[in-house]
Amino acid sequence: MAQERQSAATRGPVALYVHIPFCCYNCAYCGAFKVSASEVTYDPFLQAVEREWALVREEEGLDEGVEISAIYVGGGSPSLFGAPRLGRLLEILRGGITWHESIELTLESHPASLDGELGGSLQAAGFNRLQVRVESFRDEELAALVRGHTGAEASAAVQAVSAAGFPELGLELLYGIPGQNLDHWTATLKEALRLPCSHLVITRTTPRDEALPERLLRGRFGESPLDESLLAQYQAAARRLVEAGFEHYEIESFARPGSRSRYAELFWDRQRCYGLGPGAHSFDGAVRWRNAADLEIYLAQLLEVGHRPPRERYRLSPENAGQEELWLGLRRSEGVTWERLAGFLGEQRIALLQRKARLLAAQGFLEFTTDRLRIEPQAYFVAESVVRELIRALEGEPS
Ligand code: SF4
Repeated sequence: MAQERQSAATRGPVALYVHIPFCCYNCAYCGAFKVSASEVTYDPFLQAVEREWALVREEEGLDEGVEISAIYVGGGSPSLFGAPRLGRLLEILRGGITWHESIELTLESHPASLDGELGGSLQAAGFNRLQVRVESFRDEELAALVRGHTGAEASAAVQAVSAAGFPELGLELLYGIPGQNLDHWTATLKEALRLPCSHLVITRTTPRDEALPERLLRGRFGESPLDESLLAQYQAAARRLVEAGFEHYEIESFARPGSRSRYAELFWDRQRCYGLGPGAHSFDGAVRWRNAADLEIYLAQLLEVGHRPPRERYRLSPENAGQEELWLGLRRSEGVTWERLAGFLGEQRIALLQRKARLLAAQGFLEFTTDRLRIEPQAYFVAESVVRELIRALEGEPS
């Protein structure tokens, strides 16, 4: 164990995720673990996170030379927690460990609980990046999603936070919302481009109970059925954002130069990420686990028993890890290197994979070079199906 820890401490950058489950909204598509906002629980929750962080550092060997590069605070609706408590959270996370000198500190936020004053306080508390879940700027769509804010309110919140001097602002937008056509989507993109944002994530509207970390925990990889209207929306977004100077660096992610999300990149690169809070996912390079999604159990276990919350665990075989390398690496514009893949898949599997990859490259889905494999940008929309084909070839299945 000590040896495993020592080698873990020398491997790559490390990220943290904190799940603050409190929320007072009721979005129609929500699959996140959340509980009603209740101020009396906020301080015990912070104490529990502090206790969990100490136990994670000790039990996962993080006190031994590890440096944290990125922290993402999500939820729930963490901006409801207020700047003083969020500042206290950062102090807790700073305890007993080294932070990278230019650590990325991101807070996910809901436009209805965001304004210039909060933006200034969050910045003073140490956050340097906000991910604002705008979803749409069209009121009919926001009402259908039960988001609890209008498009104008979302724009005003983003502008106010920017005017308060917040350095990096990211927006999340949904496409494929029922009733949304290409013109509506184009109008939403236009408004996003008018605002001072440096990062954009566009996500297909799907039930959130199949979010990516959940699928990884269960080793479940999906397909991307071709839907012409969704394809048109996706392509319109990619074209407009690239024309506006954004780099399309991951299937759903676009960034101004220098504004990529480090936290997201560590996730796609399968670096270690430790999750704190009920329902939070973690990955230590060999095992994925998820804390029980139950606030009462989380608080009782940490504050009364003094142990970490119960966890669902999934240890990856080399084959599982190789599949994840394909699944996650091929989402990125850099793709995945043969060297990385060879670390998990033997020569025979690499040969099977290369045979299939050459066929898919000849059909225009992949770029196959001597050192790596990449999805061609025109095939990003069907990337999951392309990866599925590669995994079938690895498993020796006819496609
Ligand atoms: S704000 Fe987030 S956690 Fe709350 S209901 Fe909406 S999607 Fe779910």
